[in-house]
Amino acid sequence: MTQRIHILPDEVVNRIAAGEVVERPASVVKELVENSIDAGGSEISVFAEGGGIRGIRVIDNGTGMERTDALTAFQRYATSKIRSSDDLATIQTLGFRGEALPSIASVSRVKMVTKEAQSLSGSEISLEAGRVTEIRETGCPTGTDVAVEDLFFNTPARRKFLRSVATEFSHIVEAIVRIALPYCGVHFRLFHNEKRILDVPPTKDRLIRIGSLLGNETYKALHRVRIRMDALEIDGYASDPAFSRPNAKGIYIYVNGRFVKDRTIHHALMEGYRGRIGKDRYPVVVLFIQVPPWSMDVNVHPTKSEVRFGSTGVIHQGVLGLFQDFTGGPGEIRHDDSIDGGDLNGRRMTVMESAAEYPSGPSIGRTESELTHEGSRRELLKKKTSSLRILGQVGRAYIVCESPRGLLLIDQHAAHERIVFQQLKRGVDSGRPEVQRLLLPETVEFSPAEWERVERYLPELGRLGFDLEPFGRNTVVIKSVPSILPRRDYGQIVSDLVRDLIGEEAHGIGKAIEAALKVTACHGALRSGQELSTEEMSALLEEMEGEGFFYTCPHGRPACREIDTPQLERMFMRKS
Ligand code: ADP
Ligand code: MG
Repeated sequence: MTQRIHILPDEVVNRIAAGEVVERPASVVKELVENSIDAGGSEISVFAEGGGIRGIRVIDNGTGMERTDALTAFQRYATSKIRSSDDLATIQTLGFRGEALPSIASVSRVKMVTKEAQSLSGSEISLEAGRVTEIRETGCPTGTDVAVEDLFFNTPARRKFLRSVATEFSHIVEAIVRIALPYCGVHFRLFHNEKRILDVPPTKDRLIRIGSLLGNETYKALHRVRIRMDALEIDGYASDPAFSRPNAKGIYIYVNGRFVKDRTIHHALMEGYRGRIGKDRYPVVVLFIQVPPWSMDVNVHPTKSEVRFGSTGVIHQGVLGLFQDFTGGPGEIRHDDSIDGGDLNGRRMTVMESAAEYPSGPSIGRTESELTHEGSRRELLKKKTSSLRILGQVGRAYIVCESPRGLLLIDQHAAHERIVFQQLKRGVDSGRPEVQRLLLPETVEFSPAEWERVERYLPELGRLGFDLEPFGRNTVVIKSVPSILPRRDYGQIVSDLVRDLIGEEAHGIGKAIEAALKVTACHGALRSGQELSTEEMSALLEEMEGEGFFYTCPHGRPACREIDTPQLERMFMRKS
């Protein structure tokens, strides 16, 4: 009988492990930079070439290694950070599994140059697909320099899953931001194709570090939050509810210095903001949570971005409590009724008896320019009798009509959003969007990490009708915007747009532009909570009919709902 079961050779084992640890160039950056931090480096520089696919190099001034250790480091499960499983309960370092270096080396070509302070010379070790090809003595500064080239050269299937250079690089930036936020004493630098992208000097002040990574605008919107409950300590910064983002990318949660993705904490935090932040909006929050190391398990996943808590309830309560009490600074946060999906329950519901009784003329609460703008938009629409009879508005959010089939309810925001979306899309498709030039150009500042991509998106934004020009450090000046946008905070619109483009870029530029159109449409549309005159309501209906009537907004939410006569009859038990 031939033996069928055999132990896999190390190279194969490492390559399998690499599948979990090394997903993309950013994972290499994360692992190498974590090693540099564990080695006590105070200066860490990262050089990426071609989105990190062609090459990644991380240089630190940490402890370095002597030759034998440097070689052992590439063996599987070789680590200096724990000795027994007991040490896991008191783990203070970022690494401990001893998997990163062998995994990275198994799917690339690596050259490591390293030297301890007391040694006169250092060692240079080269590896290819995990095998050592050269070892030599060399003169070098104290610390470690790891260069990784041709990632996934020997695993073409993996390589195929890599995205564009820009996308892969954006993951690298994000990996560095995540590590650099809590380690404010470390000087981080990041270069892409020799261009300096980030240079974050050391500081004692966490808030300053957050500002230099997330940008000045964010810095200004942040407030300190702090709570201590028995062994749990939470400290961090949270943005004013009025300052929000279209996605959760500004939420950074650390547990004992380690960046984690944790649904419990995320949920508690959003729950705390509820009612004060708009629907589908997210705050910027950087939260440092300290728990006793024995009360959680960090060894849940090879990338260690998940943790398991002994007591989830306590953490949830702690974070929720923190954000429920958080008012966003000295001034009380007003509940903003105009926020989409705001508290409808507290609002008085009124159904107007007939359109004739409905107050017409300009509605209260909007600025003059907003009104003139909307006026001019509506002027274009010739009155025409439609098959719909407007009965009134409910809750300053829904238009109620009689249709030939029964009762029609229209969500004014969703419906208008769809109209604006179609008009913007036509502008983009024709290559000649209608724009309005701003008399007083506004500026928007981005974080240094976002800036590279912002510059790249300027032409795309131009196609939408946003004429933006670089203006000093990480800043653009808004010269014009699509003319369909009412006079609102253009700065906020542009910053949302760019963040949405960045968020969607992984799905390709077409999808990203579509997402950008949706965001713009949302900003350009009538809000719910806005009182409408009969004229405004009928203008909206006509626009809807002009667009060929539709039932959903660009996001797929319903824009109208119909209750037909048979349904009404059943409701009142006139017919079964
Ligand atoms: P882990 O970090 O989980 O221990 P790694 O494979 O990432 O495993 O690294 C293996 C070992 O190599 C580390 O435990 C550490 O002793 C050493 N090492 C790796 N990178 C560095 C570095 N930049 N400076 C000093 N030592 C390092
Ligand atoms: Mg490591």
